[in-house]
Amino acid sequence: MQVRLWGVRGSIASPMTSAGLREKARALLLEARPEDLASPAAVDAYLDRSEHAWTYGGNTSCVEVTFGDNIFVLDAGTGIRALGGALKAEGRAATAKIHMFFSHFHWDHICGFPFFLPIYQPGREIGVWSGRSDSERLLSLQMNDAHFPVKWHNLPSKITCRQLPEDAATEVEGAQVRILPLIHPDKAYGYRIDHGGKSVVYLTDTEVSKHPDKVAEHYSRFAEGADLVIVDAMYGFLDYHDHINFGHSTIFNFIDFFRESKIGELVIFHHDPLASDAQVTRLAADAKRYKELIAPNATWKLSAARELQSWELGGSSTSST
Ligand SMILES: [Zn+2]
Ligand SMILES: [Zn+2]
Repeated sequence: MQVRLWGVRGSIASPMTSAGLREKARALLLEARPEDLASPAAVDAYLDRSEHAWTYGGNTSCVEVTFGDNIFVLDAGTGIRALGGALKAEGRAATAKIHMFFSHFHWDHICGFPFFLPIYQPGREIGVWSGRSDSERLLSLQMNDAHFPVKWHNLPSKITCRQLPEDAATEVEGAQVRILPLIHPDKAYGYRIDHGGKSVVYLTDTEVSKHPDKVAEHYSRFAEGADLVIVDAMYGFLDYHDHINFGHSTIFNFIDFFRESKIGELVIFHHDPLASDAQVTRLAADAKRYKELIAPNATWKLSAARELQSWELGGSSTSST
């Protein structure tokens, strides 16, 4: 099973600003040694190892889970546009079976849908799944009336929308898919996808931070044993207190939840659109320190999601790039 992140930002797409780019360029230039700039190959090597030569990315939620010919897409934020392009470039556009799973239907999780190339492939079948019964109505709204030039009813692909039950696993292309009701305005669901002994859990958007004790067991049980657990950790501990009832969480509560869990890696996701790369890196560093304090024996890893980050969950090891 492979997992790739195409959009990791919360609430609204947040492209890098000129000031942000300049800050990175400045840090790169100040840290470079003469030998780092001696040849194009040396520059590439320097950029490969520098922490200033990349960004977490500004696209909104989209996660690709692939096994065999199957592509499961969690949410259709703006990141999904690049996924559509990659499927074409990688020669998978015609052959892959595509199923999309929606956490909920807030704009940041659906606004990339009209830009996903496979929906324009004649005859292409796409499964759409969610915990709601009205996903077709909610998805089609943004492609009806004056919101988008191509109308839902004119799409040449065959899109079938189905509801997932809350109380049982559903088999989709040989994978077991479970959902968990989350704490978020307008209903949202978390996902757990199990296939071939590997599993991914996706828990965004959710406000566990308001009453963490009430939901801790629910979440730790849902994620137990998962290789990758991607969570809404939009705010730092203090920031959260300015955003109570916004429907989002801090990473610190999730670290508490999974303190004794056997998971592989906890991934900070749905970054605050106002947070710079440096702020996200700081939040991840604070979270790692907190984990060392309260869960010194936990074997799982902790990371902050970035666009194009990927994992190969297979065999006995998990590798991340
Ligand atoms: Zn969101
Ligand atoms: Zn939301």
